[in-house]
Amino acid sequence: MSDAADAVVVGGGTVGAWCAYFLRQAGLARVVLIEKGLLGQGASSRAAGVVRMQGGTPEAVRLGQWSRRFYLSQRDEIGTDSGFTEQGYLLPCFTEAEVAAAHARMEMQAALGVPVRWLDPGEVDAINPTLAPGQTLGGTFCAQDGFITPPRNVAAYTVALIRSGVEVRERVAFRGLEAGGRGVEAEGRGVEAEGRGLETEGRGVAVETSQGPIHTGLVVLTGGPKLAEVGRLAGLRIPAGGARHQVAVTERHPDLDRARVPMVFDLAAGLYWRPEEGGLLFGMSNPDEPPGENREVDEEYLAKMRARLAALVPVTAGLGLRRLWAATIDFTPDHLPIIGRAPGLDGVTVACAGGAGMMWGPGVARAAADVALTGSSDVLDVSPLGLDRFDEAGHSRLATDPIALPFPERIASS
Ligand SMILES: Cc1cc2nc3c(=O)[nH]c(=O)nc-3n(C[C@H](O)[C@H](O)[C@H](O)COP(=O)(O)OP(=O)(O)OC[C@H]3O[C@@H](n4cnc5c(N)ncnc54)[C@H](O)[C@@H]3O)c2cc1C
Repeated sequence: MSDAADAVVVGGGTVGAWCAYFLRQAGLARVVLIEKGLLGQGASSRAAGVVRMQGGTPEAVRLGQWSRRFYLSQRDEIGTDSGFTEQGYLLPCFTEAEVAAAHARMEMQAALGVPVRWLDPGEVDAINPTLAPGQTLGGTFCAQDGFITPPRNVAAYTVALIRSGVEVRERVAFRGLEAGGRGVEAEGRGVEAEGRGLETEGRGVAVETSQGPIHTGLVVLTGGPKLAEVGRLAGLRIPAGGARHQVAVTERHPDLDRARVPMVFDLAAGLYWRPEEGGLLFGMSNPDEPPGENREVDEEYLAKMRARLAALVPVTAGLGLRRLWAATIDFTPDHLPIIGRAPGLDGVTVACAGGAGMMWGPGVARAAADVALTGSSDVLDVSPLGLDRFDEAGHSRLATDPIALPFPERIASS
């Protein structure tokens, strides 16, 4: 089988799928999405769904703002949505150093338009009556932060892909790129994107797949926790990794009613929680665990997560668990996204949400689509976020996003 497309997107997670949708929306006639398994079967269907604008860097804030706006606009745009629920997000502080860092962060976030405010210790206890009182030195709170329902997000992008006419090919694996393919532009079938000229220069590339080559002028590579592997197949070294991440949901309890529990991120510990169907959903990675793919539940570490949660939310101590899972979460060395053209490969763009694909995914996807089409984006300035920020050893020139789960800093493939 040999065929052609205006653009080929690799990976049917939230980044690749929304990117394919945005490329189609931009006017490309034939967009093909290839997914080696089923849509959403990577990290995207297994996430906790937390969406926050309270990012640790301006890039994180902008991506959070854009994605949240997109979630709110979905119903009008595609007829369904990812289930965004405005819950409010509290980041409590336990030390004076955390208080100072939180105030500096809040200033940056407020300057970018995030309605974040400081709560003193009494206000923290009042807003969250399930929290053991008198524990914090205060915290930052944003009422507009919230969560999506990850499986619903997969359903929403599936609808968007089908309705917009993206050609979805499940169970088709990406195997590599062959330069000089016969792009559809070369055949005169390319469509000029409205307001954004195509920059494929007619050279084209052959995307090698398990079902034969697809000739195209534009390729977007995604892969979440498998992005390094996808990159290797394309001849690229991408310093992205995967690490085990565990999520559990407690039984219901009247104290855990949605109206009484904001989302909370115990940043120093790396533990977060939010209400879920009358119980509490909580999640965490073990920062001392070597990176790599892992979906087995670690009961020993779960006990540590539960102990920390029970110290802060005592009502959870006696509650059973209704659901429990472990999955591989993507990460980058600086916990920031990767959005940029692949060095040395014409027409190839790389996109990764760096472990924040629920809160940043649509923004990363739209920015990647823009970069693929024009080289820049109005979502945010992507110029610092390309692969050229990493040195040979995978170290980033950028400061690490301080509001991130404590993932391993090492990259499995390095
Ligand atoms: C347990 C857990 C909880 C999380 N909680 C949150 C949260 O609360 N908030 C948040 O913002 N983020 C969260 N995340 C992170 C978020 O889920 C990811 O950042 C996001 O899903 C990444 O999306 P993606 O499209 O890049 O990757 P994925 O969803 O993994 O999709 C990549 C796809 O590429 C496919 N693929 C790989 N190799 C190939 C190939 N060779 N050919 C074709 N296809 C290929 C895979 O099969 C996969 O479907 C969580 C992740 C986990 C695991």
